[in-house]
This record gives sequence, C-alpha cells and structure tokens, in this order.
Amino acid sequence: MLTNDQLSQWDRENFFHPSTHLAQFARGEMTNRIVTGGSGVYIEDRDGTRLLDAFAGLYCVNVGYGRTEISEAIAKQAKELAYYHSYVGHGTEASITLSKMIIDRAPDNMSKVYYGLSGSDANETNIKLVWYYNNVLGRPEKKKIISRWRGYHGSGLMTGSLTGLELFHKKFDLPLTQVIHTDAPYYYRREDLSQSEEDFTRQCAENLDALIQKEGPDTVAAFIGEPVLGTGGLVPPPAGYWEAIQAVLKKYDILLIADEVVTGFGRLGSMFGSDHYGIEADIITSAKGLTSAYAPLSASIVSKKVWKVLEQGTDEFGAIGHGWTYSAHPICAAAGVANLKLIDSMGLVANAGEVGPYFKKAMADALGNHPKVGDVRGEGLMLAVELIQDKDTRTFLDPSLLSGAKVAAALLKRGVIARAMPQGDILGFAPPLCLTKAEADTIVGAMSEAVSEVFANA
Ligand code: PMP
Repeated sequence: MLTNDQLSQWDRENFFHPSTHLAQFARGEMTNRIVTGGSGVYIEDRDGTRLLDAFAGLYCVNVGYGRTEISEAIAKQAKELAYYHSYVGHGTEASITLSKMIIDRAPDNMSKVYYGLSGSDANETNIKLVWYYNNVLGRPEKKKIISRWRGYHGSGLMTGSLTGLELFHKKFDLPLTQVIHTDAPYYYRREDLSQSEEDFTRQCAENLDALIQKEGPDTVAAFIGEPVLGTGGLVPPPAGYWEAIQAVLKKYDILLIADEVVTGFGRLGSMFGSDHYGIEADIITSAKGLTSAYAPLSASIVSKKVWKVLEQGTDEFGAIGHGWTYSAHPICAAAGVANLKLIDSMGLVANAGEVGPYFKKAMADALGNHPKVGDVRGEGLMLAVELIQDKDTRTFLDPSLLSGAKVAAALLKRGVIARAMPQGDILGFAPPLCLTKAEADTIVGAMSEAVSEVFANA
C-alpha cells in the first residue's frame, strides 16, 4: 500500500487543486487531507481521523455518506450498460425514469429536463437556451443577463461572469459584457442601518427596475438568482423579496432562472426553493442534491413556456445544436434515481424542515449574545454565522485577520467541518439532510468553543 508521505508528495507534484492557493499548497504550507471513507454525516481520512462534515462536501452529499442503495444502483448500471449517448432520441431506463421523477417533483409549470454534469455547465446551457428563445421569438437584441453581486452560478466563462464574487473575475478578464450585476439581497449588510427589511426589499426591486430601464428593457433577456444566496454568504432573502423581483421581471418580459443547485431536492425543507418562496421560474438549475454527488449530474429543468419556443425553433431551424457526450450518462442517471428514492424513503425533506430550525435556534441561543457574532441566519439546513468586529456600529472585521478561517480551523480541531465562505467572515453550515438534533447539538457545542478560543483575547 502507498504510504501517506508518498501520496502527499505526488499530490503536491501533480494535482492541480481547484479553489486552492496554488503556491502555498505546492510549498507545503497547507496540509493535504486524503479522504478515504464516510458514513452518515461523518467522513474519515487516511490518518483515521473522523470528522462531522457540517458542509456535506460542498453542500451536495444530501443523503449522507456510505449509502449502499446508491452505490449498488451505480454498480448494477455499470455492469449492464455503462454508457450510451442520448442524442437523437436515445435513452436508457434510468435517464427516462429520472426525468419523470424530476418533473413529478418540480413546480407544476415545468416540462422537460436537459442533463449535464455540473451546476456550471447547466447554467451555461440555460443562458444558451435563453438566447435561442429570444432569437426564435425574433428579438435578437434581447440578450443581457442580470445576476446579483454575491450570487454564485459556476466558474465557466459565462457562469463565472454571472457569479458576483470578485475572486472569480479578477485576472480572468471576467465578467463578459453581456452580464450585469444588481444588488445582493443581503439585509444584514444594508448601507442604511435604520432601513426596515420591507424598505430594503423595495429598494432592491426599484434598483433592478432602474437598471433595466437604463440598459433598455428590450436588451435584457433573463435574471438569474439562487432562492437563498449560497456561496455569497448563505443569506435567506429579505421579506417579500421574490414577489417584488418577479413583479419587475414580468413587467419587462424578462425570463427568470432559479439556480437551485444547492436548494433543489430538499435543503430548505421543501423539495425546491421555488416552492418555498413562491418563485415561478422559467428554468430551474439543479445539480448537487440530484445525485447527492454520488455521481456527477446536473439538470436544466425547462418550463412549458420555454419548451414551446424551443420546439418552434427546431421546426424552423433544425435539430438543436447543443449536446454533451455525457448528457444523461446512464451511471449518473441511475445514481439520481436511487438518490431521489432514498430522499423519499428517509423522509429527508421533512427532516431538513424540522432539524434546520432546531439547529438555527440552538446556534442562536449559544452564540447570539457573543460580542463577535453579528448574525445567525438560515433556512432549512443552510445556516450561517457571521462574525463582526463591533455589533453596535456593525463594523466588520478586518479581512486580513482571517477570523472566519481561524474559527473554521478551531472547529476542525474539534472534529467538525464548516466552510469559511470566500467573502466576509462567515461560517457556513449545510450538513447532510439526515442530520439529527443530537448531531446539530454537537456542531453547536464545537462552534461555541471555537468562537471562544479564537476571540479569547479580543
Ligand atoms: N450554482 C450554485 C448555486 C452553486 O452553489 C454552484 C456550486 N457551488 C454552482 C452553480 C456550480 O456548480 P458546479 O460547481 O457543479 O459547477
């Protein structure tokens, strides 16, 4: 068997890790963790360390680790037929069954599913579909896409542009010119502290309206947003937000893409975030929770309204010129079918709706009064703890102190994985949806100790 030292050396020499400080890693200034196994909400590494994964990988292992129902379905499909393509009317029992299961679970206005392998490629597909849609409708100038600052929609050329985080633009010559950003729906970080939540929502909608007017409504094709901001800080929308935004979009005939890569299939305690917030999307993006990451799979779920125009387009222009070799890959589709069955049989959507609020209350009770904890917020099993320098003046911590990363490290020492979010000192928690109340208590206990340790002398 290979030694840990050997693997570590090869890792630093050969492996280009995503979202990593490449120089620090190559110099050995960061540890490499080699993960070997997992069960329920726990993962294990090669040193035998067991960690409670309170971020479900990258908020994707929704059913938890080690579910043999899914691994057996994958093995069975791989033995029977590992691959066939899905072009020109080909499919497998798994891909057809999964499509039926997704449409049965999706909001009523949804019609068809297009498969990719990642949230990023699904959003690339979605933008192409929006452009195609407007070309078929004879509106070739209606192409701009509005996304929000702090939104996360992937890291491709278009999707990295849609993502509203500086780190994903800087030095990559992004965003592309067709993308415009509007306000993050982030009430806690509002500029005017005296502003009510309702007034803040009104301001977001008015600013969106003004932006569309400025750009020209005939040039704006779509708005994309996550029902709850994820990577940008795990921020549930302010009161009335989605209603107000949708009213503006309707006024200008602008399509709405709900990016449910994180919220799809139960994370908020509802099957989709769109149901949760009364969002009537034209296209829904899904990935992560669709297979609980047992195999890579994404879905662009297309509404009846958009589908009708796509059909019309192929009647006019021929077969749609968009396809991936691995669309609806049978192994991934089999994983999806087994995963959705497991979500139902384990009652995970209801569990997220019950344990989520318990977890948030326990976290708020334990940490809400700490002088360095400014905000404890969340919806379902998406929870954030935002650290702050001074609560009264709402002054944020100096980013160079790396306080969020230090709390995450102190948590790790106590056997709990949380994510220090990329912008702001925000600890993100998005555990597998099978989390129990006792496991939630364990996370809260470790978090209390971690915050006390990091700010002991503050
Ligand atoms: N959309 C959202 C809301 C996401 O959170 C992510 C990934 N975190 C993506 C899209 C991109 O997904 P992927 O990393 O699979 O490309």
